[in-house]
Amino acid sequence: MTQYANVIVDLSAGALDRMFSYRVPEGMQIVPGQQVRIPFGPRRIEGFVVSLTDECELDPARVKDVLEPVQDYPVVLPELMELADWMHERYLCNLVDALRLMIPAEMRSGRVRIRTKRFVHLNWSGEQIDGFGRTNPRAGRQIELLHQLQAGDLEAAQLNASALKALVQRGAVTVYEGEQRRTPSALRGFVDAREFTLTAGQRRAVAAITEAMDRGGGRFLLNGITGSGKTEVYIRAIRHALERGQTAIVLVPEIALTPQMVSWFHGRFGDRAAVLHSGLSAGEKFDEWRRIRFGEAQVVVGARSAIFAPLTNIGAIIVDEEHENTYQSESRPRYDAREVAWRRAEKNGAVLVLGSATPSISSFMRAMPGVRAENRLELLEMRERVNGRPLPEVEVVDMRAEFERGNHSVFSDRLSDELERCLNAGEQAVLFINRRGHSTFVSCRKCGYVVKCPQCDVSMTYHQVENQLRCHYCGNTMPPPRTCPQCGSSYIKYFGAGTQKVAEEAQKLLPEARIVRMDVDTTRGKDAHERILSRFRSGEANLLIGTQMIAKGLDFPNVTLVGVVAADMTLNLPDYRSTERTFQLITQVAGRAGRGDKPGRVIVQTYDPDHYGIQLAAAQDFRAFYRKESAFRRSALYPPFTQIVRIVYSGKDEEQVRAAAEADEQRFAAWLEEKNMRGDAVQLRAAEAPISLLRGEHRWQLFLKMYFKGDLNAACARMQELADAAPEGVRAELEVNPANLY
Ligand code: ADP
Ligand code: ZN
Ligand code: ZN
Repeated sequence: MTQYANVIVDLSAGALDRMFSYRVPEGMQIVPGQQVRIPFGPRRIEGFVVSLTDECELDPARVKDVLEPVQDYPVVLPELMELADWMHERYLCNLVDALRLMIPAEMRSGRVRIRTKRFVHLNWSGEQIDGFGRTNPRAGRQIELLHQLQAGDLEAAQLNASALKALVQRGAVTVYEGEQRRTPSALRGFVDAREFTLTAGQRRAVAAITEAMDRGGGRFLLNGITGSGKTEVYIRAIRHALERGQTAIVLVPEIALTPQMVSWFHGRFGDRAAVLHSGLSAGEKFDEWRRIRFGEAQVVVGARSAIFAPLTNIGAIIVDEEHENTYQSESRPRYDAREVAWRRAEKNGAVLVLGSATPSISSFMRAMPGVRAENRLELLEMRERVNGRPLPEVEVVDMRAEFERGNHSVFSDRLSDELERCLNAGEQAVLFINRRGHSTFVSCRKCGYVVKCPQCDVSMTYHQVENQLRCHYCGNTMPPPRTCPQCGSSYIKYFGAGTQKVAEEAQKLLPEARIVRMDVDTTRGKDAHERILSRFRSGEANLLIGTQMIAKGLDFPNVTLVGVVAADMTLNLPDYRSTERTFQLITQVAGRAGRGDKPGRVIVQTYDPDHYGIQLAAAQDFRAFYRKESAFRRSALYPPFTQIVRIVYSGKDEEQVRAAAEADEQRFAAWLEEKNMRGDAVQLRAAEAPISLLRGEHRWQLFLKMYFKGDLNAACARMQELADAAPEGVRAELEVNPANLY
């Protein structure tokens, strides 16, 4: 009986987002999930087999044959095939875009190959070798080689060529082509296999998680302070999964995916651990992926996209630093790895563990009493550091007072003094600059006043070209004030100092300091990240200066001082999450200090020392912060109490882009009226996007803030229709609860 394959073609175009039928030629073995080559018009392309049928509705004469399978095994497992389907609905993406996430990009259109090498295998027994040694005492090289091979097969290239050749001729050994796996450098590095006695907090957390695993699933929010040993909890949970014959995924934010982190897992799980992240070469990624696919590795450590690892029978999915917004993808499909993790855990009967010292407001809300069972996370708290040390002491320095006293440098007197003391004592220090690319706000250096939008209560952003201030939420504009509306000072200007500037000033202040800088500029190359950190780890450098990148996961026992150069940077981002981010960043960087035997100290410089985000971060009181912040969100109608959806329009012609956004505003408003949903919208407005020009393209947005009870799916579907119908020359992208609002 003839079989037909329903194939999703590997081309991105809205119109192609449907199944095409191909005949499976006699004798060809095809299963769903397999990648195949097919004729498509005049071209030969690749596609994914979604299903097989015995019938075909088309005229059989017009149905073409599958040319060949790309691999002899399915690349998309059934569970992941179903997940792709779910993503297609949830994120309004093409099915092919979801399917593409399931395999390393380089596997498509044959851009990576299996690398082979020549290996040597020993055919002789020990007796034969001894006999040969007696009769040929002068063949020392050959005898030595035979002995080497007794321990196992070796790579031909590493062996003495003439001795090898002689042994091949004797039939003593055979040379064969074998597959060679490219091992990521982090898995080659140092191994750390310490075994710990768990703390009481760790024991409780591990017990709750493993019991849930035995019951067939559960969801946890592990809220443990920095240094409470969350990683060890993850490791025990994974070990339990492996003991049960199951597998596990650990997601880590890309920037925290340090070799140190990976080596912990490698130290504990050896070759059973695989790593997936963007720093790997194409070959490494491909090889790691296949180790996972064929069951050689059962523990996957990776960044966001590792959630699609081809594992079966998953027992535990762990999302470390769950509050990080890098879990949300910013390109199509705009999925949220935490949501996908939730879904995969459910389907596999696995436990889901979201871990953080500073959980996101929305996750913490789910761990509060009264949440419906299907949305609930069980809260696990660890309030003590493993070494019994208190959290480092956090001092808040008022930069307005420094300014008054005539200190106009980037370092307060307190920070300079402490830096000097720390380095002179042979200890290490970290300086953190929470600068985020494009944002500049205007503030008064004398009194700390920040210009905010009267309607939105978020900082206005300074646009140099037009010399005006603009609100990135509602589009409000105003000229920058010449004098401070609060204190009358003329020192009101826009704010910003990068890592380079801070490094220069630090070097001036402390000529002896051995400084390393870590930011986007210094970490471009492969393994650059690792090189910088190893200079710091070895003590070659004693002062690390960096951005967000250094906030996470670093564990250096000799660091006793952490300085936050300007906490206001993130505090005044034009984003409703700016306080949350500031709190998280300060707590995280503060957590880098005092992890060893010596106590740590943290100095936070700010122009707004009384702000609750700064105060509560200094007190390291997440509970209190959560209460304050969720009250603010509720009253100001921000997520998670409302939902934000926007369409971003971009194109070369500003007029066209603007017109598209404004026309859609009219259409969408009319649609809301018609559906009787106007009351569900808190705000609807077409306005210039926060970054109005990006890579030469003008950007506008249609911004919708909706009450939570509103029908988000219906609104999104309508917005997607509008986006799909964008006029020629304008690109329109729908974003649901976007991670960044630029
Ligand atoms: P967190 O992620 O909660 O900030 P980590 O997982 O980085 O903390 O752990 C902090 C340090 O404590 C690490 O060096 C880790 O190896 C060590 N550690 C973890 N658990 C224990 C334990 N039970 N006893 C001693 N040291 C531990
Ligand atoms: Zn002022
Ligand atoms: Zn506004």
